[in-house]
Amino acid sequence: MSCDIWVIAEHTADNLTSGTFEAIGAGRFFSNKLNAKLSLIILGNKIDALIHRFSDTGVDNVYVLENLHLSQYTSDAYINSLEPFIKQHKPSIILMTSTCLSRDFAPKLASRLKTAYVPDVSGIEINPPSPPLLKGGEGGILFTRPIYGGRLLSTVICKGETPWVVTLRPRAFEKIVDTSKKANIEKIEPTLSPSNIRTIIEGIEKTQKGLGLTDADIVVSGGRGMKGPENFKMLEELANILGGVVGASGAAVDAGWLPHSAQVGQTGKVVSPKLYIACGISGAPQHLAGMSTSKCIVAINKDPDAPIFKVADYGIVGDVFEVVPRLIDEVKKR
Ligand code: FAD
Repeated sequence: MSCDIWVIAEHTADNLTSGTFEAIGAGRFFSNKLNAKLSLIILGNKIDALIHRFSDTGVDNVYVLENLHLSQYTSDAYINSLEPFIKQHKPSIILMTSTCLSRDFAPKLASRLKTAYVPDVSGIEINPPSPPLLKGGEGGILFTRPIYGGRLLSTVICKGETPWVVTLRPRAFEKIVDTSKKANIEKIEPTLSPSNIRTIIEGIEKTQKGLGLTDADIVVSGGRGMKGPENFKMLEELANILGGVVGASGAAVDAGWLPHSAQVGQTGKVVSPKLYIACGISGAPQHLAGMSTSKCIVAINKDPDAPIFKVADYGIVGDVFEVVPRLIDEVKKR
């Protein structure tokens, strides 16, 4: 059975996001197992520099959908551009990294196509590695995804029509770049009518300097236990010396201590850093939903029964205002 795997890129003016490289890694896994073609889909406007830079990421094809109305992401423009193109090429699986953009876009795309949507996948198994894989769900593609704030892992089998739209949990898949392979590049200019685009982006403001939360190897997050915005300075200091960034719980963001862009959790960002340090965070399911797949979790909380300790690899029962300064001193010494 022939099958095509697509990765829809997320990008800035001159770079693909690191999650897109992870999606290419997952796509390569599929294409090797299923003997499938792997294509990268880039939507935008005037993105030649980007295309040539990434034509050798190890994909078979790069399809570039260019239109003035694709300068900024809007779900209408993306979906209206992609729908006819998908119907023409009939990919089997569409992969994206799990971000704020794909959380908005991927379910809408699946809904428009009337196909399955599998969000936030952290593992993929192909078993048995023979057809029929993509018909009726009796085949063997098993998607694993955390549920109930990461307390359980569910295994999902898709049924029915393809393409299945799958988003991938950041950092769950390896980035794979195979520069030995040159992709075929094809440019397409979709026809878009402004009257069918209901959102107008007036501007984009960057709220956080340097690394974004989802790309950081180390995240130091603070919650209500930090007592006020002024105390986040010590978390910034700890994050700086460790080379990480600061995140926050929903309660800290609701209190106006940090912007929403720093929120980790169900209605914030999903992160899977190598190290997540939770300071004065109780570990509500909505928070765990955004960080429980971190490789190593350190929790500092004065309540020994705080639920965060159930997911922590290392727990420090103590006052953040004593523990964090001591941590900073220790890290500085080393
Ligand atoms: P609390 O639950 O109040 O915990 C504070 C912790 O600090 C306590 O465990 C306490 O023991 C500890 N503490 C206090 N003082 C100290 C000290 N001096 N030293 C050490 N420890 C101390 N939350 C999110 O985080 N992300 C989300 O995306 C999110 N989305 C939500 C979506 C919905 C629909 C809803 C209903 C809620 C959502 N929430 C989210 C909120 C969530 O339910 C919790 O209310 C929130 O996570 C609690 O934040 P917290 O742990 O900082 O505060």
